[in-house]
Amino acid sequence: LPGPEVAAPTGDDVAGLLPRPGAESDKYRRGVVGIAAGSDRYTGAAVLSVGGAVRAGAGMVRFASTAEPVRLVRARWPEAVTTVLDPSSSPDSLLEEVGRVQAWVLGPGLGTGPEAHAVARAVLSSDVPVLVDADGLTLVARDRTLLRRTAPTVLTPHAGELSRLLDVPREQIEAARLDHVRRAAAELGATVLLKGSTTLVAEEHRPVRVNTTGTPWLATGGTGDVLSGITGALLAAGLSGYDAASCAAYIHGLAARIAARGGDGGGARGDARADAGGRAEARYG
Ligand code: AMP
Ligand code: MG
Repeated sequence: LPGPEVAAPTGDDVAGLLPRPGAESDKYRRGVVGIAAGSDRYTGAAVLSVGGAVRAGAGMVRFASTAEPVRLVRARWPEAVTTVLDPSSSPDSLLEEVGRVQAWVLGPGLGTGPEAHAVARAVLSSDVPVLVDADGLTLVARDRTLLRRTAPTVLTPHAGELSRLLDVPREQIEAARLDHVRRAAAELGATVLLKGSTTLVAEEHRPVRVNTTGTPWLATGGTGDVLSGITGALLAAGLSGYDAASCAAYIHGLAARIAARGGDGGGARGDARADAGGRAEARYG
């Protein structure tokens, strides 16, 4: 029998999937995440993405970028290990300079020029899961050969970015989000998280996971960059792309709700669970 086409994980489902440190944990086992983001023009996205990964419990964050974002990340997140990239180095040496990671986040504020393309090629040539967001999505929309890889890929577009990835008008995507997120996952061979007031996570042969923990207060610059870091930390901890993306969407939305209410964690949690379990399918199924 075919399984359900849509699923809405509850808070308990997410809690069951989240890694917790134990006596046997060390920072490497908790997951080392590499973040290739930011450029001298767009520095803030990198700082936010690194913050998302640090706060989501990454064992270690290795951050690679140009000089200015590296300077700002070092000031804001001293626990991050940083590398100033030389984009003229070969993909292999670029990965070697950063050191071993268990997952990568690629794209927030990266830019879309030839140097950004070289960084994207290097990161996507690695044999670990890669989350691609923002400018990284523009780069893979232009050059789909970047997605020919064996390790898992997670793409986190909003409707505009998905429109470029699929070459379908944005209005068409907005009118049939479920169909398009499924189609993107199948066509691009990736886990696809489609952002919006409701977040959808699609992977071939799996039910689309719907998340409604968010709040319209998330509709502001920079929130997507934080989500990329949270998801990267969960990928590095060993969650599958599908679980990492759906848990990250849940946590990100719930954190925003708690922040919007000035720290009323208990109430927000109850509401978020009710939303995730109840209204999701009715609204977007
Ligand atoms: P980005 O488009 O990359 O800046 O990411 C925006 C983030 O905010 C995503 O996680 C969206 O799902 C979320 N978001 C945007 N608008 C809304 C909304 N109206 N309600 C709930 N979440 C939203
Ligand atoms: Mg974004």
